[in-house]
Amino acid sequence: MTGTPSEPAQAAASGDATAQKAFRTPIGTHDLAPPESDRWVALMGAFIGLADRAGFGYLQTPIFEDIGVFARIGEGTDVVGKEMYEFFDRSDRHLALRPECTASVCRAFAQHRPTTPWKIWYQGPFFRYEAPQAGRYRQFHQIGAETLGTDDADADVEIIALAADFFAALGLAQVPLVLNSMGDADTRAAYGEALSVYLQRRVGDVDSEDRDKIERHPLRILDSKREATAAVAAEAPQITDFLSPTTAAHFERVREGLDALGVSHEVDPKLVRGLDYYTRTTFEFRAASLDAAQDTICGGGRYNGLVEALGGPPTPGIGFALGIERLLLACDAEGVFEVPTQRAEVWVVDIAGGAAARDLTHDLRSVGIRADRAFDDRSMRAQMRAADRSGAEIALIVGPDEAGAGTVTVRPLRRPDGGSTDEPQRTVARTDLLGTLRTVFDALNAAAGDTDGSHSSGLD
Ligand code: ATP
Ligand code: MG
Repeated sequence: MTGTPSEPAQAAASGDATAQKAFRTPIGTHDLAPPESDRWVALMGAFIGLADRAGFGYLQTPIFEDIGVFARIGEGTDVVGKEMYEFFDRSDRHLALRPECTASVCRAFAQHRPTTPWKIWYQGPFFRYEAPQAGRYRQFHQIGAETLGTDDADADVEIIALAADFFAALGLAQVPLVLNSMGDADTRAAYGEALSVYLQRRVGDVDSEDRDKIERHPLRILDSKREATAAVAAEAPQITDFLSPTTAAHFERVREGLDALGVSHEVDPKLVRGLDYYTRTTFEFRAASLDAAQDTICGGGRYNGLVEALGGPPTPGIGFALGIERLLLACDAEGVFEVPTQRAEVWVVDIAGGAAARDLTHDLRSVGIRADRAFDDRSMRAQMRAADRSGAEIALIVGPDEAGAGTVTVRPLRRPDGGSTDEPQRTVARTDLLGTLRTVFDALNAAAGDTDGSHSSGLD
């Protein structure tokens, strides 16, 4: 449905009070409808399987929170400073639509104090007031995972491998992982100092739009996408040279773990992420197939101070968030993860009033068969056309004769691979229907060389 043109909203313009205004989705938002939504459902299923096997439970937090929750991400970040949807409710509470989930996850941890390690995953809509373009929207959707309560480098490896395994499961081959360590508070202080000295020296070469960051947030100079600034950043001192022995060992252990699991990666000392609370490991998966401005499909890292900042006990955490829309754009660009629309297996054609269609579709569905029908008492021809269009393998026909005799005519339409069939049609008693369906499905599957019966699962 995305981008489908609709009738222009002329009601208001024409001054016709009786005409209805045709509303459209707000700028930067989209409807998600079949068949594209079939992909989302399949994508979610793939992730849920992996997360479940790795011991991550599902967490759902509110779409809006006290604005203070998100302020902790960093007042100086674009996400908080420029992009947040904030509002006052009818009781004058200052709230915001969530722009990301890590702060909410930490708020939830501080509120409920679960036993650790707390391994959770989440999914849903997030909101940022950005300039909409391909891969950048005002309502977008993320899947994420977080492990709270351990500083173990193997937890970093587990989180990163979960994301990598997910991309591999979708069939993506060109999403390289870049990795860095931000060190601890001491590292950041020492590095911040060195970076500031360097940037003061190069201030004239930094893009004027970025100059205010030199004072306020020198680290953010490093992830500027502006060309002049990027050139200055390329020659800046590197944080990896400032790691303490403990954080350097932690980083080494993460890299070792990724190597052991076959997760290839590259270290980029300039990779700093937007959050103020990031410590140690930071990482991004970038899609080689996407435009550089929107190529990060997944970002994450360690945030060892965020739970405390939200009123909880000192608690380390590591996690990632991935953008579903961008991920699917990358799948399109690589030509992978095309999800076939699920079709009906059986179509019920009822020209005897509709009661048989009503009852049979329900009975068949209850034994696991995808069954459907047409509505509105259409002609035999119209219903057979609908059966054909549906892609169903078998039509069940109930005319006045069948209705009177308590029988059903089973007419094979096509093999599961779409090929034609010469399997004969037969009329059977309703009580024998399931047995007959099994026989016909088996014959159609065998003819298609598909003997595992995957298209008649409900009867196996
Ligand atoms: P970018 O640098 O592209 O703005 P970000 O660093 O702001 O990304 P994060 O806050 O790390 O993004 O969010 C994690 C992921 O969510 C991103 O890697 C991206 O895939 C996705 N994402 C972020 N903002 C948007 C948006 N406005 N529209 C669509 N996807 C988004
Ligand atoms: Mg952003």
